Amino acid sequence: MSDINQEVSRRKTFAIISHPDAGKTTLTEKMLLLGGAIRTAGSVKAKKSAKFATSDWMELEKQRGISVTSSVMQFEYQGSKINILDTPGHQDFSEDTYRTLMAVDSVVMILDVAKGVEAQTKKLFKVCRDRGIPIFTFINKMDRFGKEPLELFEEIEEVLGIESTPINYPIGMGPTFKGVYDRFEKRIEYYEDGEKAGTQYIEDYDQLQESLENVADQATIDQLIEDLMLVDEAGNEFDADAVKEGKQTPVFFGSAVSSFGVPTFLEHFLLMAPYPASRESSKGTVEPTDDVFSGFVFKIQANMDPAHRDRIAFLRICSGKYEKGMSTWLERTGKQMKLAQPQQFFADSRESVEEAYAGDIVGLYDPGVYQIGDTVCGSKDIFSFGDLPQFPPEHFAKVRPKNAMKHKQYIKGIQQLAQEGAIQVYRTPRMEETVLGAVGQLQFDVFIYRMKAEYGVDLVMEPLSYQIARWVEEGEIPNKLMHTSTSMVVNDYLDRPVMLFKNEFNLDYFKGQNEEIKLTDKPPRTE
Ligand code: GDP
Repeated sequence: MSDINQEVSRRKTFAIISHPDAGKTTLTEKMLLLGGAIRTAGSVKAKKSAKFATSDWMELEKQRGISVTSSVMQFEYQGSKINILDTPGHQDFSEDTYRTLMAVDSVVMILDVAKGVEAQTKKLFKVCRDRGIPIFTFINKMDRFGKEPLELFEEIEEVLGIESTPINYPIGMGPTFKGVYDRFEKRIEYYEDGEKAGTQYIEDYDQLQESLENVADQATIDQLIEDLMLVDEAGNEFDADAVKEGKQTPVFFGSAVSSFGVPTFLEHFLLMAPYPASRESSKGTVEPTDDVFSGFVFKIQANMDPAHRDRIAFLRICSGKYEKGMSTWLERTGKQMKLAQPQQFFADSRESVEEAYAGDIVGLYDPGVYQIGDTVCGSKDIFSFGDLPQFPPEHFAKVRPKNAMKHKQYIKGIQQLAQEGAIQVYRTPRMEETVLGAVGQLQFDVFIYRMKAEYGVDLVMEPLSYQIARWVEEGEIPNKLMHTSTSMVVNDYLDRPVMLFKNEFNLDYFKGQNEEIKLTDKPPRTE
């Protein structure tokens, strides 16, 4: 196998999705421990709480994930190179999360056994399903009482509309949780005193019954065997193709806090999860093993390191090999550029990248040249992976600095934070007032907080009661319609007129009255 084939086939790039508190941080940490990427339990958590200590804005820190530097982490396990991408676990809609899901090849969905499928999981799951991303389910907190496994499978199938297939099956739960039975390997993994207490291979269910007699009560054993027979008989058989297409999810049980079930999960996952997929582009299908280097920017983050005021563009490599000092071309501008000091991220450090392959994420120092969705090519023969999905803002507010003396920092902060893509910045045509647009209210809170923390600017924010933004594609807005009781016109950062409406009814009415004016909900692509 050639170098590049070998490197690509050992890469797994995935994100963990869950509702807050289901155990994402804990599971991530246990995986990092297994891979030797961190040495002590609690380091990921410690980071999270250290951040809490320095900021009294708990929700905000939560929203920004485990920690800023660990929003992408790479580690090795049993020969595989694993890239975990963090998705902020806040309940609010986050565009960042959605874009992150565009950069992975599979997803691990954590469910709390007591809670089953929760709201946030449902939302994130929908994006994965629409993209056909393979989904692996880890049902966590088996050391607590929760829903019965069969009930959970039904919930996954009904609420999420995807087949489920249990790879292992829990033996009891809560205080009577005794371990899991691995249906694939035909082995019992025992759980005792909060940790793994051995493995036993068995031939059949009679032997399973015998083996468990001294460990679990008869009712638990009977229920287990009855369930297993039912699943064998009427359940979905593991179907690698269906998993690959995101139509079936392999299900695992465990208790992340004690690491129970985590190694087994990771081993099965590494065998079943796809390696970096091919991607469609303007020049056709790009294979991860193609010689020519390519990737796209899915996330931009300012002030990664507040001491250095740096800005990082996160590039997901889609093909070829990154080599230090190589030349690349930015598709949007056609300009040739050196990738300046790309960084790779580990649990608690970042290091300069020597080489990287499809599936890897590199962080590029960004002096302001990259935009979210940019394609970077390693040859003059440029092509594009297309735009990343954009979500039209639904919340609007006027902002200004409390202290007029801070105008310079205010402008800089707005520009830099807007480039990350979480908020849109508009101006009113005559007064030149700033209007912000965001998909969720939370983005405003984050914005106010970061303007203060990172730029030292206190903001005055006045919410506006608009919910819909439409770019004017054709036609002129007559003067008398620039600002009415139900709509107003603002200009976006490229001076394109955008109409804000209070509701669908006002929008429809406007369209009916002004047929010559064409409106669109997507900002046209910019050079
Ligand atoms: P996140 O918000 O999804 O990142 O969740 P965390 O990993 O921070 O976990 C939320 C809480 O659940 C923490 O108090 C964890 O210690 C706890 N937790 C995580 N996994 C388990 C588990 O397997 N069993 C139990 N009982 N608690 C767990």
